[in-house]
Amino acid sequence: MSAARQRIAVIGASAAGLAAAEGLRRLGWDGVITLVGDEPHPPYDRPPLSKQVLSGAWPPERTTLRDPGRLAALGLDLRLGTRAVAYDPALRHVTLDDGERTVLECAGVVAATGVRARTLPGTEGVEGVHVLRTLRDALALRRRLAEPGRRLAVVGSGVLGAEVAAAARGLGHRVALVGAQDTPMERVLGREVGALLAEVHRAHGVTLYPGRTVTAIAADGGRARGVELADGTFVEADDVLVAIGSEPAVDWLRGPAAPDLSDGLGCDRYCAAAPGLYGAGDVARWYHPGLGRHIRIEHRMNAGEQGLAAARNLLAELDGERFGERRPFEPVPYFWSDQYDLKLHAYGVLAGAVRTEVLRLGEDPLRLAALYGGPDRVTGVLGIGLTPRQARSLRPLAAGPGTWEEAVARLGETVAA
Ligand SMILES: Cc1cc2nc3c(=O)[nH]c(=O)nc-3n(C[C@H](O)[C@H](O)[C@H](O)COP(=O)(O)OP(=O)(O)OC[C@H]3O[C@@H](n4cnc5c(N)ncnc54)[C@H](O)[C@@H]3O)c2cc1C
Repeated sequence: MSAARQRIAVIGASAAGLAAAEGLRRLGWDGVITLVGDEPHPPYDRPPLSKQVLSGAWPPERTTLRDPGRLAALGLDLRLGTRAVAYDPALRHVTLDDGERTVLECAGVVAATGVRARTLPGTEGVEGVHVLRTLRDALALRRRLAEPGRRLAVVGSGVLGAEVAAAARGLGHRVALVGAQDTPMERVLGREVGALLAEVHRAHGVTLYPGRTVTAIAADGGRARGVELADGTFVEADDVLVAIGSEPAVDWLRGPAAPDLSDGLGCDRYCAAAPGLYGAGDVARWYHPGLGRHIRIEHRMNAGEQGLAAARNLLAELDGERFGERRPFEPVPYFWSDQYDLKLHAYGVLAGAVRTEVLRLGEDPLRLAALYGGPDRVTGVLGIGLTPRQARSLRPLAAGPGTWEEAVARLGETVAA
């Protein structure tokens, strides 16, 4: 390896990128680690943006993932406010938009560029129309919600839309939640649990518009004044949050010899997309050996775990003698969501389930555990209103190739223990 090649570039300076950079150092890479991030901030955490930051419970600085001392101790070549604009897979060159179009010659690259919020066409520059992906987005929405008595329309009733609706109600605003799904988070939680969540939002005063699509965001003089629904309903609003999903940030990887970029960066079981190129976090769609298919997960825990796995496997590819063999990455996926005082924890894969078994835990309808899966096998488990210990104890139910009979029998014992 030539001297110029003693560099690993990690593109994307957030949860997955930071985990990769820390992993490279911890595992013994003593060459240059260039961490490139297009946001101006050092790595920060996104989950609090729709919760504590939006509600005002946390100052934005509290989302910082590592204090300056710990970050400095990694000895990184840190390039913030800098975007990667091109990648040459044959030469392993990354081009930056730093004014000089600097070309980084790399031994290897970890792509950790995450996703970007999807927007509604024609809403660019309209005051009061928001997305929520970055700290900047969160602070812009928080500024608006710091004024009392606002009317917020949330377009999209997935996890982000449901969390923001809850935070805005907590601040006393009038909130409308519009979703193409019949119940909030239905794509993940299914109809039965989604219906329960709908009741929780209604009980907290959110007006739900389920099963509706938005045809336009209405504006006067460049300011949002509401959303028009396909059935003719008009929902008045001062602010509109567009929470209709995201798109993997892969533009910089496009080119004639680009790897598979359909729905994120296509990777194998080792998180490798091409020789010397590994993917991690929200941007990576990789082959999960346990599930027997490719998946892409937008969960905080996965970003950290996959960043480390990608770092380890890249090092093993570069120098197997020193760093050992590559290992398949097959985690049990995990995510959580906070809405009002309700905590949801989920392990495994819930979306796309054809069978669900819900076990209610006592009188309180908001304490339950539920299994999700295909016709023969359980693939995921959800806990609502459980203690952290009870929630963690659900994990094994999603980890093994459990049959429905075994899993249903074990579920009751697990939550009772
Ligand atoms: C508001 C919100 C709330 C969430 N809540 C939860 C939750 O409760 N539970 C949960 O499990 N998950 C939650 N998530 C998801 C979780 O935050 C993500 O899974 C995690 O942030 C993914 O980390 P990442 O590093 O892969 O990607 P990201 O965090 O998206 O980071 C990618 C970084 O790369 C940068 N970048 C993109 N392109 C380039 C380029 N060309 N050059 C340089 N830099 C680039 C981006 O600007 C960004 O800084 C939430 C996400 C959001 C937005």
